[in-house]
Amino acid sequence: MTIEQALRTAAVDTREARLLLAAASGFSEASVVAYPERSLTEETEARFRSYIERRSRGEPVAYILGRKEFYGLELAVNPAVLIPRPETELLVELALQRAFSSVVDLGTGSGAIALAIKRQRPQARVVAVEASAAALAVAQRNAVKHGLEIDFRHGRWLEPLAGERFDLILANPPYVAEGDAHLGDLVFEPRGALVSGPDGLDAIREITREAPRYLSPGGWLLLEHGMGQAGHVCALLSQAGLEEVDSCPDLARIPRVAGGKVK
Ligand code: GLN
Repeated sequence: MTIEQALRTAAVDTREARLLLAAASGFSEASVVAYPERSLTEETEARFRSYIERRSRGEPVAYILGRKEFYGLELAVNPAVLIPRPETELLVELALQRAFSSVVDLGTGSGAIALAIKRQRPQARVVAVEASAAALAVAQRNAVKHGLEIDFRHGRWLEPLAGERFDLILANPPYVAEGDAHLGDLVFEPRGALVSGPDGLDAIREITREAPRYLSPGGWLLLEHGMGQAGHVCALLSQAGLEEVDSCPDLARIPRVAGGKVK
């Protein structure tokens, strides 16, 4: 079977089929496009067919490939971690607009936020907290892969940080409400990284309540949140005593990252 035949018979999006064929064959994506007449080994064909089958059952391409790009870094991912989303790059952007020498990423998952920050600010002390040991292993692997030094802590939100203070506290916590219809599309990703109580705000409530004690004077807490949660999250930040509270819209113009500053 040739590349062209394989692509023609694959019942998924063309660009995804090319990516999966490149991964199955070891050819670059460019050569998959440039040499459609090239023939595939039986082994490659079988591997490609299994990738297409998985994709047809709804498994995200990132899990099939085992990688996802985030803020210019290619990250290893597996089903223990949430697949990094482009909207989370806004959280990184907003963090980088501030002056800081220490930062912590709560619930780091694949390590996406912590690693992007460390890559851009090599002098900063970057701590990353994760409650799932399986996720932490992925983040640690990504740090080694990119040669970035991150201080990893195993634990829940701020718990492993007793007595420490940071200029910036960042998190993309779970914020989807239990029973949200949208969860039907996210069954392959870890539920603990997505769902947080009846209104989706349990983790954000806990983090906003605890975070001010862990901020240096003038430090910022920045949190990603869901569509329609900006008002609630800003109210929680204000209740926690933070100032200059606001939520910033993502590229789709949906308020997405809320923040507040400690006095
Ligand atoms: N942005 C994700 C989604 O709804 C949710 C991620 C999260 O809960 N932090 O697709």
